[in-house]
Amino acid sequence: MKWLVTLLLGVAIGVVAAVLYLGRSVPVAALQTAPATATPAAAPVAAATAPAEPPVSVPAPAATPVPVPAAATSVPTNLQVATEPLLLPVAGVSAKELTDTFNQARGTERKHEALDILAPKGTPVFAVADGKIVKLFTSKPGGLTVYQYDVLEKYSYYYAHLDRYAPNLKEGQDIRRGEMIGYVGTSGNADPATPHLHFAIFELDAKKNWWEGTPVNPYPLLTAQVQ
Ligand SMILES: [Zn+2]
Repeated sequence: MKWLVTLLLGVAIGVVAAVLYLGRSVPVAALQTAPATATPAAAPVAAATAPAEPPVSVPAPAATPVPVPAAATSVPTNLQVATEPLLLPVAGVSAKELTDTFNQARGTERKHEALDILAPKGTPVFAVADGKIVKLFTSKPGGLTVYQYDVLEKYSYYYAHLDRYAPNLKEGQDIRRGEMIGYVGTSGNADPATPHLHFAIFELDAKKNWWEGTPVNPYPLLTAQVQ
């Protein structure tokens, strides 16, 4: 009987090792099957301890390896945006008050590619996610603006037409989801009668320039949350 247990144990460890090996060499597949692991730090621990468990529960060696493939080393590209809804960045505005203006025309060639969130001048504006303040920029169309990266530096969040920045806001500073970054205003080309936050998201490319990327519609991300 003992030899049988030893044999099963050997097989179990072999399976776990094989799954771990395969999981590591095919990260894309691993990412798709393990969407729940938001914290990359936790996964390696689970992987390391997994082979030690089977001795206790001999009968089910094949069941344990399944959750292992451990999104371990690489974090899925759109994990953060996909799994954690963004915070609605304007105080006192709920998701159902938003209108999807992403595809609205702006002139003949351009589309809006952003969301306008209407609120009285001076309403606090919050960071939609954890990350870093990358650039405080003043432009003709955007007025007083903030460019923020998410923690993975995968996306740039753009807040425009601000009335003013939050006190002590600095380029390079880390920012937490919900921390105030400024106040709604009409700076830039905003209609002075319609203060609003112009909020845009774009996916950074390999160059990671804060001013360029592929536009992402914020509407589904901001309204995914039940409020
Ligand atoms: Zn706008």
